[in-house]
Amino acid sequence: MAGNWKMYKTPAETCAFFEKFRPLILQAAHCEIVICPPFTNIPAAVEASRGSAIQVGAQDLYWAKEGAFTGEVSGPMVRAAGASYVIVGHSERRQYFGETSESVLKKTVAALESSLTPIVCVGELLEHRELGKTDAVLCEQCRKGITPLDVRQIVQIVIAYEPVWAIGTGKTATTQQAQDAHAFIRGVIAKMFDDNVAKKVRIQYGGSVKPSNARELMSQPDVDGALVGGASLEARSFADIIKNSI
Ligand code: PEP
Repeated sequence: MAGNWKMYKTPAETCAFFEKFRPLILQAAHCEIVICPPFTNIPAAVEASRGSAIQVGAQDLYWAKEGAFTGEVSGPMVRAAGASYVIVGHSERRQYFGETSESVLKKTVAALESSLTPIVCVGELLEHRELGKTDAVLCEQCRKGITPLDVRQIVQIVIAYEPVWAIGTGKTATTQQAQDAHAFIRGVIAKMFDDNVAKKVRIQYGGSVKPSNARELMSQPDVDGALVGGASLEARSFADIIKNSI
């Protein structure tokens, strides 16, 4: 269960969140919990989560280890700051910052080389869904951005299926739409590797997950967790999503 804070919160607000959040998730032993704050809050989040089961992730990374890449942050830097996860290829990065499946692949490999678990995002636009192209888009994103990984690499990644029309819109995919897309993605991995490998890859759903819909979404056989944006910014709502995901 991962929270994507996008471009929200200062270090002080990060500490205030953890103070409220930690006591609320003491009983949650059924899942891994990850908070992905902006880069500038990673040290505060790592410090505030010390001694708890909460892990910290970044929201992006650059594939080179270091160099003249103004504004970028590398895998070794993210790791040294104390993060253990990193989101790669979020649809907002694909839409507004020119991220492609090719760059997603490079970043995923770079994350693994820095001992970070990549959360690799895929998902279709509304127009793709309306034109019946969802499977084709997911297949293309997986084939270019994910399945070139080798077997040792692929079992270490997390995939987040995030229909772009459901992100930050309050429109959640139906449980059937989520299950169908997750099963389709798992099938693509099974075709490129085998069923055993496909079963090992965790696939999260993302797109307007809230306390009220978490239970039903998480009960689907191919839905292994959630990537939560807006509802992860408030300690009580993210804790309730986690509680409802058993
Ligand atoms: C996200 O940012 O990955 C996301 C799923 O956002 P939201 O939960 O706000 O739709």
